[in-house]
Amino acid sequence: MSGIDRSGLRPRFWETVPLKKMTQAEWEALCDGCGKCCLNKLEDDETGEVAMTRVACRLLDDSTCLCAQYPIRHQFVPECISLTAKSLEKHLYWMPQTCAYKLLHEGEPLFDWHPLISGDPETVHAAGVTLRGQTVPEFEIDEDDWEDYIIEEPQ
Ligand code: SF4
Ligand code: SF4
Repeated sequence: MSGIDRSGLRPRFWETVPLKKMTQAEWEALCDGCGKCCLNKLEDDETGEVAMTRVACRLLDDSTCLCAQYPIRHQFVPECISLTAKSLEKHLYWMPQTCAYKLLHEGEPLFDWHPLISGDPETVHAAGVTLRGQTVPEFEIDEDDWEDYIIEEPQ
């Protein structure tokens, strides 16, 4: 079962409502639940290149790819970003290629596996774009070793 509430939304709102005009419920429902933004990234100081690792935030539930404490996550992870239409632009450089917020910002359509389109939160996993069952919690891996866990983003 999905922890993301996608009920009571305007039909296909993502095709007609600009990001900045979405309601909070629509904005939250836009997240496909891939969990890739909750994986630690490594940024090369010189090139600015960002690499994804499978070392997950301590709150990521590896079996669902969702945050285990989303509404109260800042109590445990104060640095977790609250993405908004306003702040989106400055985060685009590190965001996953398949992220729904990034796609819409770039004028691209959502993929057919997006739960808003398929009506089923499982399709994001079935499409192979998540790291379900393959992440390791950050508290188990020394930060100096994170580069051993670099992966290609599944898309
Ligand atoms: S990468 Fe985007 S779509 Fe995937 S979980 Fe993060 S915010 Fe949601
Ligand atoms: S606190 Fe939750 S939403 Fe934030 S990065 Fe960690 S798992 Fe993701």
